Formats: sequence, structure tokens, C-alpha cells
Amino acid sequence: MILNGKEIAAEIRAEIREQIDALKAQGARVPKLAIVLVGNNPASETYVNNKLKACAEVGIEALKLAYPTEITEQTLLTEIHRLNSDETIDGFIVQLPLPDHISETTVMRAIDYRKDVDGLTPENVGRTVQGLPSIVSATPKGIRELLARYQIRTEGKHVVVIGRSNIVGKPIAMLLMQRPYLSVPSMSAASLGDATVTICHSKTRDLKSICLTADIIIVAAGCPNLLTADMVKDGATIIDVGINRVDGKLVGDVDFEHVAPKAAYITPVPGGVGPMTIVSLLQNTLQAYHEHTR
Ligand code: NAD
Repeated sequence: MILNGKEIAAEIRAEIREQIDALKAQGARVPKLAIVLVGNNPASETYVNNKLKACAEVGIEALKLAYPTEITEQTLLTEIHRLNSDETIDGFIVQLPLPDHISETTVMRAIDYRKDVDGLTPENVGRTVQGLPSIVSATPKGIRELLARYQIRTEGKHVVVIGRSNIVGKPIAMLLMQRPYLSVPSMSAASLGDATVTICHSKTRDLKSICLTADIIIVAAGCPNLLTADMVKDGATIIDVGINRVDGKLVGDVDFEHVAPKAAYITPVPGGVGPMTIVSLLQNTLQAYHEHTR
């Protein structure tokens, strides 16, 4: 069965739109997001435009703040401090990557975690690790939501994560191994967890044997055809996070054609994890708004 991220994301957007319409009807202000873009990397510009479009669609006010590549780290940090204290802004993101002369770590550390709707500040990552209320980064949040909406349980399952990045591999592993929040109704995203997680990466030996023991495989490596049918046991769930361009075509990290017949559930690329990532940003902005206006 295909896990249709595009369809689920549209469903969630409709829910967000409904909540924002209700705010408007009460005469309340709407959530406001700022997106900081440095330089003119075409991929970043596309991502930012998609985010602006998604905000407009649900009624989130979004503002693009574009700066030249030559901006100094100090000036960018001043801008971030200004955004931290701007009461009209509920959340903001700094589109990555940044030019080489600016330290992403320094920039991330400067963002007030309550406005960090990308969930990438050390404070939010630490809170997520400790199971405290936090803003969870967009891609892992989207994957968890997708699993929940298809009622795919993770309790006691062996989840293999391929890739150990700070934005996907590490946080999704952490979320799925955690004890779920006990107070939430079953099969909401926050009730997922309790999995046994193995994290694999480029130095892992015998990836195939490890994958063959997995109930759920999450691939975030950026290598086309990394996961092939001989690495997957019958009935596994496959989440393909990869985004690769091959011969002008967008493909994931999974040999979809041959893996799909063996899988119980599988995400396509495009139309799987990608749309869930964008919608998670909208959810995070709404979350930050509610915390801010509480
Ligand atoms: P990354 O690019 O920073 O790192 C890749 C990871 O994969 C590393 O940890 C590396 O050790 C591992 N890896 C690479 N080759 C491997 C191999 N042959 N075997 C095992 N492990 C291997 O990771 P990232 O930023 O998480 O990005 C991974 C992919 O996911 C990229 O294609 C990226 O474009 C995509 N991505 C998609 C979304 C989305 O919304 N769909 C979001 C973020 C990233």
C-alpha cells in the first residue's frame, strides 16, 4: 500500500486552515512566520517559495527576509536577535545551507527555541531527546504523523534508520524509540514510539543483514537505489526520505519498482515524505503561535 503523503498533507492543511479561520472569526490575529534566506541558492529559493505558498494556503502570514550572500555573521545574528524579540512574529526559520563564512551552529544557537519552528536549536533537540514538550523538526515530525495517520504501530517493532543527520536520521530514531506521551489518545503521532531502533550510516558493515531484520526501514541517505528488494523482508514498511535527481527525474533512495511488491507500506518519491515535511512546518508555526499567545 502506498503511503500517500500528498493526500495526508492536504488533509492536515485543511485542518490547519479550519483552525486559522476559527481564529479569524474570533477576531484574533493569525500566526506569523518569517523565513530568512541568505544568498541566491536556487534550491533554497524554491524551498522558500514552496513554504510561502503553503503558508498562504492555510492563512498563516509569512514574510520572506532575503539577505545578500556577503552578509556578515554578526549582521545576521543581529537580525536573528531582532526576530527573537519581535512580538508580532510567532516563529521563524533560517533556510539552510548558509554561505561558508557563516557558522550554521552559531546561527542555530542564536534562535530563541520558542520561535524555532524548524526544531533545530540545541534546546529543542535536547528537549525532544528528554521527552519534554518541544518543537520537533519537520521531516521526522512528518514521518511520525504519516505512520500515525495510517495506523502503523511502532511499539516493539525493529526500526532501521539509514542516515544519521541532525535533521532526519538522529531525530526520527529518537522519536520512535521514546516512550510515548501517556496522556495522548492512541494513534495520535505523539503516541508512537517504543520501537527498537538501529541507526546505520556510511560506515555500517553488512547493511543488508541488518535491514533484513527490520519491520520498518527509514532511508535518509541521499543515494539512489540504496535500498534494494533483496534487503527487505516481506511485509516491511518502507519510508523513503531521499531526494535525488537522476536524468532529470526526482527519485528517492529506494528501488521503488522492486521493493514495493514486497512492502506492506511504502512512500513514493515524490509525494511521500516531502509534502509531510512542509505541512509539519505549518503545524509547528501554529504550535508556536499558541504558546506565544497563551
Ligand atoms: P545527509 O545528506 O546529511 O547525510 C547522509 C547520511 O546518509 C549520512 O549520515 C551517511 O552516513 C548516510 N549514508 C550515505 N551513504 C550511505 C550508504 N551507502 N549506506 C549507509 N548510509 C549512508 O542526510 P540528510 O540531510 O538527512 O539527507 C538525506 C537525504 O534526504 C537527501 O537526499 C536529502 O535531500 C533528503 N531529505 C529529504 C527531506 C524531505 O522532506 N523529503 C528532508 C531532508 C532531507
